[in-house]
Amino acid sequence: MIKLYNGKEIPQLGFGVYQIKPEETKKCVLEALKIGYRHIDTAHYYENERQVGEAVKEFLQANNEVKRTDIWITSKVWVTEFGNGKTREAIKKMLNRINLEYIDLVLIHYPYNDYMGAYKELEEEVDAGHIKNIGISNFEGSEFDSLFENVRIKPVLNQIELHPYFQQRNIREKMEAKNVKTEGWAPLGQTKTNLFKEKIISDLAQKYKKSEAQIVLRWHIQSGFITIPKSCNPKRIKENFEIFDFELTKDEMNEINTLNGKKGRVQYNSIIMYFALWFLPAPKDD
Ligand code: NAD
Repeated sequence: MIKLYNGKEIPQLGFGVYQIKPEETKKCVLEALKIGYRHIDTAHYYENERQVGEAVKEFLQANNEVKRTDIWITSKVWVTEFGNGKTREAIKKMLNRINLEYIDLVLIHYPYNDYMGAYKELEEEVDAGHIKNIGISNFEGSEFDSLFENVRIKPVLNQIELHPYFQQRNIREKMEAKNVKTEGWAPLGQTKTNLFKEKIISDLAQKYKKSEAQIVLRWHIQSGFITIPKSCNPKRIKENFEIFDFELTKDEMNEINTLNGKKGRVQYNSIIMYFALWFLPAPKDD
């Protein structure tokens, strides 16, 4: 568990569901919950919140010993629903889709459009008890600093792209100073980057009799990051959870740290993203 500035605790390892088709989501989330994951990361943009909610409900009904408060659900409001009453309405619809009494954490998906207006409405949603915490995502530049001049309820975390090739040291330093936790998306570099072929990673995999993915995830855990790998393959879902029975040495951690900047990010930089977001279709509401 990672303790947030407000005393609440979030499971450090979560289960991401980006690009999992709605019709597969319930099955995959149920599989993750059975394995022991207690933290699911979804978003309005992924169009699978409804199925995440169904899986959580079904799991709770079948397992009396697990309570709703044992499971952490994060979702995100999309850039087309920021401010002017739209965020309040978006949370109402989100709660209808997820069909649970509250959402543990809602993130501003990107610092775009009227994200400050959206943030203010999320503060009201915390007051109303509809959401428990507010967070931000992809806040990597000056918008991170300016946010704090205006907020009443601080964000608990910032979800940013993060993996050994892209370690985001500048923004992480600022986040640490404000006690905003780091949550990494694309923890495995979305496996597009050949990260698993790095000699440092494959040698450690051999040494610890673990997979390359497990080595990378262990690096995230030991770095203190909240991490949310995605997979719909039961073998991989289990594998990604089995990272608590070994420990990398300080030297090994430092060796992985040297990969920073070797390949860069998997997403476009923020300027290209700014224009890309303009053209992305808004997610469906149902
Ligand atoms: P990821 O780094 O988790 O990589 C996912 C890919 O890795 C998939 O192709 C999967 O099949 C593969 N994989 C998973 N486990 C593996 C294993 N053990 N061995 C080999 N391959 C394996 O990338 P991601 O899905 O983009 O990021 C994780 C989560 O972060 C998402 O599901 C989503 O919840 C969140 N996310 C947030 C944002 C944002 O803007 N806030 C953006 C992207 C993703």
